Amino acid sequence: MKRIVYPGTFDPIHNGHLDIALKAAELFDELILVVAVNQEKSPLFSDSERVELIKESLSGVKNIKVDTFNGLIVDFVRSNDAVAIIRGLRHVSDFEFEFQMAMMNFNLNPNIKSMFMMPDEKYIHLNSTVIKDVGRLGGNISDYVPKCVEDALYEKYSV
Ligand code: ADP
Repeated sequence: MKRIVYPGTFDPIHNGHLDIALKAAELFDELILVVAVNQEKSPLFSDSERVELIKESLSGVKNIKVDTFNGLIVDFVRSNDAVAIIRGLRHVSDFEFEFQMAMMNFNLNPNIKSMFMMPDEKYIHLNSTVIKDVGRLGGNISDYVPKCVEDALYEKYSV
């Protein structure tokens, strides 16, 4: 059983994240999508809201599981018998941060591999912050997020 972990804030999940998760899940027996909790960032969606939106977005995909974690991702990977971490790369600007994280994770546990995947071209410009801004200002976000996320965002901002 080859298991891979896809960590992130996912506040909220969008089609770029889903593209990476679905492609990685084709290459591995199981993918665990891990929502990072208790970060210094203050997310718009609570931990449980983010998990629920991910589960709904990926319902029907049997080999993707969703979990939360607060701690070192290498510890989560090891305790779940996974072999690698997958991260998405959009631009050169992502590379510097991802490279530092990968090197740190390698130093923390050299047995855990870091893998990177680029999304389909149509998702390259997506990020959760911009999607939230567009949604807050009433713009159309239906091409960027699953329907459940679109509804949840409009609901947040209509209060
Ligand atoms: P972070 O984990 O840095 O807080 P996110 O939760 O937004 O950021 O992203 C989780 C992972 O998904 C990261 O590897 C990030 O590079 C990747 N990602 C974010 N947006 C996209 C996108 N549009 N296409 C592909 N990968 C993405």
